[in-house]
Amino acid sequence: MTKKIEVDWGLCESNGVCMGVMPEVFRLEDDDTLTVLQDEVTPENEALVLEAVRQCPRQAISISE
Ligand code: SF4
Repeated sequence: MTKKIEVDWGLCESNGVCMGVMPEVFRLEDDDTLTVLQDEVTPENEALVLEAVRQCPRQAISISE
């Protein structure tokens, strides 16, 4: 089954920390909303996704299986 990045929008405070880790996945918009550009977790990007999960100060990012 495909693993996917999930963001709890109730927790996210749009501080852009995740974008600093993975700008190809997380994009903070001009209106301070966060867009997940591609939500698939692959063997290639999993380590970085886990780093974004770890660094999010709101624990808003998780991986669903
Ligand atoms: S690091 Fe967490 S709180 Fe900050 S924008 Fe990303 S998901 Fe939201």
